[in-house]
Amino acid sequence: MIFELQKRELMKLKRWEDNHNCCITDMGAIGGKLSYKFTPTSIGTVKIVKCACSKEIDLSNYTNW
Ligand SMILES: [Zn+2]
Repeated sequence: MIFELQKRELMKLKRWEDNHNCCITDMGAIGGKLSYKFTPTSIGTVKIVKCACSKEIDLSNYTNW
């Protein structure tokens, strides 16, 4: 099973990455401080992205479920 983010979800993620009140500024490479957790369920894939600062965002598109 291949997990990928749709364009809309990527835009949402980018916006959140830029705008959440992050305390971590020196992680180097872009995206290096984010970890992705995709959980398949019977009604769709739950897509959680967590920042190294411990904040996380739910990118799941529940409206399509
Ligand atoms: Zn952060």
